Amino acid sequence: SNMKPEPLEECIHRVLSLTESDALFRGHRILVQPAMESIYIYTDRDKMVQVLLNLIQNAYEAMQQPGEVYVRVAKEEYVVRIEIEDTGPGIPEEELKEIFNPFYTTKETGTGLGLSICQKIVQDHNGVIDVKSTLNRGSIFSIFLPVYVAGQ
Ligand code: ADP
Ligand code: MG
Repeated sequence: SNMKPEPLEECIHRVLSLTESDALFRGHRILVQPAMESIYIYTDRDKMVQVLLNLIQNAYEAMQQPGEVYVRVAKEEYVVRIEIEDTGPGIPEEELKEIFNPFYTTKETGTGLGLSICQKIVQDHNGVIDVKSTLNRGSIFSIFLPVYVAGQ
């Protein structure tokens, strides 16, 4: 496989450059709050970029008006948490349990595959993906991944 230790920062920079023009076009702002220290994860970089890309794209698509997306990275011992928060409409309670299902979409031209692929990739990294949402305020998708520790 293509799994190797990668600086998480590089995945994030790659995603930012891939989503920059879309953000400009839609009038959204993306604000990144990096971690205090450099963090390595054991990953296939293209796959992790795809996860973050799907989440940021969903955030952009959810916001009908120009809004903000916050990307936060925080390390806690052996786990890194990556949060992607939007200022969109939020997700109704009864939809929350459906959104990770393949083909579940509320978009006219959506595939409904983005989040199920995200979940699969995150699980393949021994990680967890989670969502919290408040109607009319926005959603926060959180990814928890093991931190790569040299020599393991
Ligand atoms: P798609 O983007 O093709 O619809 P996804 O699997 O990426 O498929 O997302 C599934 C559904 O989850 C979306 O159609 C939408 O209803 C909901 N969703 C995902 N992310 C957000 C978000 N940030 N804000 C509001 N709804 C969201
Ligand atoms: Mg999507």
